[in-house]
Amino acid sequence: MKIQGWAAHGAKRKLEPFSYDAGLLGPEEVEIAVEFCGLCHSDISILNNDWGLSRYPVIPGHEAVGQVVAAGDHVKGLQVGQRVGVGWNADSCMHCHECMTGNNNLCLEAAPTIVGHHGGFADRIRAHWLWAIPLPDALDTSSAGPLLCGGLTVFAPLSTFGVKPTDWVGVVGIGGLGHLALQFANAWGCEVTAFTSNPSKADEARKFGAHRIVSSRDSAEILQAANSLDFLLITVNMSLDWASLLKTLKPNGRMYVVGAVLEPMSIPAFDLIMGQKSVSGSPTGGPATISTMLDFAARHNIAPQVEHFPLGKVNDAIEHLAAGKARYRVVLDVA
Ligand code: NAP
Ligand code: ZN
Repeated sequence: MKIQGWAAHGAKRKLEPFSYDAGLLGPEEVEIAVEFCGLCHSDISILNNDWGLSRYPVIPGHEAVGQVVAAGDHVKGLQVGQRVGVGWNADSCMHCHECMTGNNNLCLEAAPTIVGHHGGFADRIRAHWLWAIPLPDALDTSSAGPLLCGGLTVFAPLSTFGVKPTDWVGVVGIGGLGHLALQFANAWGCEVTAFTSNPSKADEARKFGAHRIVSSRDSAEILQAANSLDFLLITVNMSLDWASLLKTLKPNGRMYVVGAVLEPMSIPAFDLIMGQKSVSGSPTGGPATISTMLDFAARHNIAPQVEHFPLGKVNDAIEHLAAGKARYRVVLDVA
């Protein structure tokens, strides 16, 4: 049986209906009937080949939610009929140091769901059983997808770097990742500052958990927040005034980059030295972190605010996100 989806056949091309033969199901693989799939800005970057690693045809979609419909002979812990989600990665080697320590997202052989593998804008998706994560019952199927990449990416640093409930956390860019970061940081107990280029998002940012709103593009306003933050999460992919943003950190503060900023970032060494500050980043998270994040989201009623598009309107959905109009994550209705 062929898998039916929507694919682009080259950089910056529109998606078209596309079917492929996935071959025999591997012994460690599950096949999932996709019901909903979020649209992440990384899908657009892969479609446009912004990172030089796209392999066409590309079926995007790496925030897929649906039911397991087939399981290979060596699959563990999953049953046919179970509700699961698949995020940025669909596989990893399982035997390197990173995989054995639960940091499978850092495995050098980790297989992104939409690079050299077909993603969730299709009626079926396949993944290694470890990367198909059961969803807690409390999570709503139609809006859970964006937690699998967007939510995970902003949750992982809070636990990895030991952000404390007494910390002041800033989030730059209130889009798909950013609106979830506000919710996670608030539920984590932190004082939360939203940095946005769009003043019309202020009220909703407060609703998501921000205590303070600052412009992300007005350097004078950024500097008014100088020396106030312990952790500053960057979720934009555009160049901003990094020097002023770095000044919002207290001594020992960390600027944490998850937005795939396309140009090299200009970071003044003197500010790093004097305040003993750090700049770092990370790619999504491993399967154990995904489970922990889903559990935390279910417990704290953290949910993506989504706009639904039918899969047949996927090109309109991509245009909507690329134009900065998404409030705050687009989800494709696949089934
Ligand atoms: P998104 O929904 O488009 O949100 C990005 C936000 O950035 C926008 O909502 C906007 O927020 C802000 N922004 C956009 N253009 C701007 C500009 N010219 N100046 C200032 N702010 C601007 O995208 P997303 O899905 O959240 O993804 C964000 C980035 O994270 C992308 O680069 C994506 O590839 C990357 N990503 C990385 C990982 C990882 O593992 N590290 C995982 C997923 C995604 P305001 O309107 O509030 O300014
Ligand atoms: Zn993503």
